[in-house]
Amino acid sequence: MNSLRVLKRELSSMRNNSFEMLIFFVTGRCNAKCHHCFYWENLGPTHVGLSLEKIEKVAHSMPNFGTLLLSGGEPTLRSDLPEIIKIFRRNNNIRNVSVPTNGLLPERIADLAERIAQIDPEMYVTFNLSIDGFSELHDQIRGVPGNYDSAMKTLRKINELEQDYPNLRTYVNSVICADNLEEIVPFANFVREERLADAHYFEIIRGDPPEVRLKAVPPEKLSYIYESVTPIQEYYLSRDAKRRRQGLMAAWRYISDVGNLLNKYRHQWRIHSYDTQWDFTCMAGESIGVIDYNGQTRICELREDNVNLADFDYDFSKAWDSVTLRREATIAKTHTCDCTHTCFINTSMRQDFSARFWDAPWLFFKYKIGKIWKDEFTIDSYYPHQEPEGITN
Ligand code: SF4
Ligand code: SF4
Repeated sequence: MNSLRVLKRELSSMRNNSFEMLIFFVTGRCNAKCHHCFYWENLGPTHVGLSLEKIEKVAHSMPNFGTLLLSGGEPTLRSDLPEIIKIFRRNNNIRNVSVPTNGLLPERIADLAERIAQIDPEMYVTFNLSIDGFSELHDQIRGVPGNYDSAMKTLRKINELEQDYPNLRTYVNSVICADNLEEIVPFANFVREERLADAHYFEIIRGDPPEVRLKAVPPEKLSYIYESVTPIQEYYLSRDAKRRRQGLMAAWRYISDVGNLLNKYRHQWRIHSYDTQWDFTCMAGESIGVIDYNGQTRICELREDNVNLADFDYDFSKAWDSVTLRREATIAKTHTCDCTHTCFINTSMRQDFSARFWDAPWLFFKYKIGKIWKDEFTIDSYYPHQEPEGITN
């Protein structure tokens, strides 16, 4: 494939404003008590989620889109999870489905993973195991004794299933919070050395968790973690690029993925540390949207204004075009609420020409020559007009 064809393919993937990703909270029930949970106020044993009949109506009224990202609560508490995914595959031709899980129920989760992987070998299925550190610390953050052991068992079971289902992937997702700053890097090394996952992602704590003190992550610690885990993620991204593409396309995929990762981290670091803005437009309400367990529909997970699908007879398109959500989508573009949410940063970056074709390769280059951390992740690099404290002329 020559370079022109690579470029054409990349440009055609920027499908302006088209709907790309649905984040669907399939249930508000959960069997964990995570101290950093951003959704904790919505959780409850009676918050079962929308029925299959209602979900069918929702999917039927949606356009085709690429990625269904399930959320909750704990999605695997719904035994009809494969049926939910089948609905979106049938109606919307989804190509990727992502299932986050706390891993507390290994047998049940492995059974669901197998049934979901069987739906269609052309559909990529990712199980994201949430693990924030080693045994004692993880159990303490998640509020459940034995959670680490269960999550590890789940991880290994899904790893085994991957032998039979090439469309199945296992990721580990770790939330960076005040309590695991010292442990997260050794844990990332452990996951890689033990070959426990196909990828490992790191999310800075977001929203309003029950333990607010966990949000106290100092900028220098955050940049140290990003610097330490990036080579590990680069390893996973390089392996994935070679598995999915060949030749020039694999090389570009690798540069682009690592560059986008660095750009995402750069934004998350700045916003978490200095409450600043994205360099690109937020596509919440255009390319990406959220349905809560009770049918409330929002442009993103962090903004409150919503409409309920029940008021539109579960017609997503009508709810999406409502005055409330169109107003929300307009607000998203004004940079009044820039956040650290990966899904929204990634989706928005993908739609931005400059972020994709200039920032990503440039940051990749700076990373490779060893300049990125000092240039982009220190306060004097971000506020170059300020003298570092204690230095006078
Ligand atoms: S973070 Fe997830 S697993 Fe933990 S309490 Fe919240 S919904 Fe449950
Ligand atoms: S920038 Fe604002 S609108 Fe966009 S995802 Fe973040 S909170 Fe939502």
